[in-house]
Amino acid sequence: MEHFSIDEWIDFARGIDKKEKTIEMRTHLDRGCARCSKTLETWRQIVDFANQQKNCEPPAYALQAVKTSFVLQKTFAAKENKGKKFEIARLLFDSAIQPVTVGVRGTASVVRQLLYRSGTLCIDMRMQPKPGSESMVLIGQVLDSVKPDHGIGGIPVRLLCKGDTLSQSRTNEVGEFDFGVTAADHLQLVFGVADTRNIVVPVPDGESIRGMVEA
Ligand SMILES: [Zn+2]
Repeated sequence: MEHFSIDEWIDFARGIDKKEKTIEMRTHLDRGCARCSKTLETWRQIVDFANQQKNCEPPAYALQAVKTSFVLQKTFAAKENKGKKFEIARLLFDSAIQPVTVGVRGTASVVRQLLYRSGTLCIDMRMQPKPGSESMVLIGQVLDSVKPDHGIGGIPVRLLCKGDTLSQSRTNEVGEFDFGVTAADHLQLVFGVADTRNIVVPVPDGESIRGMVEA
């Protein structure tokens, strides 16, 4: 049986009507697909909860953080990750959702600046489209907020897409890392801060970046 994606069920749970698609999904549920019913049930609860908290639509990054943990469930449960702790970093700043100051729009809308935090660890990151191509560059630095002038060097960084490793490296001596990215959706970065501690950074989907560039 063909199932529907998590994204489709999230939209469904949020009540976004996609006409024929919505009808198809309803029929699919009526046929009794346990897997999709369970996915929808999970997302209904999350969306309801978020709505109660804010009395408005849940912020996109909150949904993304939950979605990340959902997508990475398999990674977290894998044998080689037994005993390891995964933390999803919180998004503290996103230039794409800040009010735009008149006059700085030009460059500000092309480069997306993001700041994440988990414990005392900060990840300062920039998403930058490569001109004339669909790809972009992810550049960042891992910092300790207790010693903000020191980057954290030599820690493993992995770029994942839906839980599969696309590429891996280590931060340089000042804590910097960079990745070239072609498929800009469903990406996560995982930092191995200690043997047992991993910090997961959900990368915002590229759609928003492309949207921003066009804007
Ligand atoms: Zn299904």
